[in-house]
Amino acid sequence: MPCALYPALMPHPSEQPNSSDLIRGRTTVGGCELTILSDGWYLLDGGAMFGVVPKTLWAKRAPADEQNRVLLGLNTVIVRTGRHTIAIETGIGNKLPPKLRDIYGAREQLPRAFAAAQIHPEEIDIVINTHLHFDHCGWNTTRTPDGRVVPTFPNARYFAHRGEVDHGHLQLERDAISYISDNYDPLIASGQMNLLETEPGRITPVVPGISVECFPGHTAQLLAVHIESAGQHACYISDLIPTSAHLAPAWVMGYDLDPVTCIAERHRFYRRAIPEQWLVLFTHDHHTPCGFIELNDKGKPVMRTTACRVA
Ligand SMILES: [Zn+2]
Repeated sequence: MPCALYPALMPHPSEQPNSSDLIRGRTTVGGCELTILSDGWYLLDGGAMFGVVPKTLWAKRAPADEQNRVLLGLNTVIVRTGRHTIAIETGIGNKLPPKLRDIYGAREQLPRAFAAAQIHPEEIDIVINTHLHFDHCGWNTTRTPDGRVVPTFPNARYFAHRGEVDHGHLQLERDAISYISDNYDPLIASGQMNLLETEPGRITPVVPGISVECFPGHTAQLLAVHIESAGQHACYISDLIPTSAHLAPAWVMGYDLDPVTCIAERHRFYRRAIPEQWLVLFTHDHHTPCGFIELNDKGKPVMRTTACRVA
């Protein structure tokens, strides 16, 4: 199926999503209800998003604006298991410095998305961050009008990998800009964030039906989130495969710390996700937030169908 990832027209920089655009899909996985909410789209350099892939190839899937930026989604998945209400990822948030907010065109829409879906932040009892780049954990905390930083989900236990916290604290030249301390350090200090130490190949349960697994490459400890219920399986694969335009194993991002490992980990993911028909949830695909993957007649992974009803 051809990939219709991006709209023909890019949004105007001041354009805000309609509240109905902020619910990107709803589906079920066994007895779990999934609602995909958006913090609003943002814009990143197309060359950085597609690494060494020439623009003549990626531009067919992701048209760039006059600044060479492509439109990306910020998908938060709410999972209701019946016993728990889980938020996977929390978008960009409202704490970016104004200059960066302008560069990325951040929209700060997740609270509106919760309201549109009639989900209260107080209902969330588990938050999982796949890694701690600012576009994945921004609404972990909220900056109030008087400048305080408070937990957005007061009743939640937060989960992230300890290695991500340690890496963020190093503030390396390569990626210091991606780590904003206020997204996690206040939660660690208060004891609200649990730090995991899972290694590649080991699956760590969080609550019944929800587990995390390390797929290194984008960062050294990137976590994927598995959702399993009644024989069905979904996986939020995060920045290992950020959009449905990135299915080709070698189409890895310039942002990836270890692109060679990313390619090997994508193959490892496909070895289970394709034959076991996992529903794959994409972190940065605004228009195809989830779907099933199959191999085409050349043996390349392609989208089979869009599994979610986009609201
Ligand atoms: Zn990301």
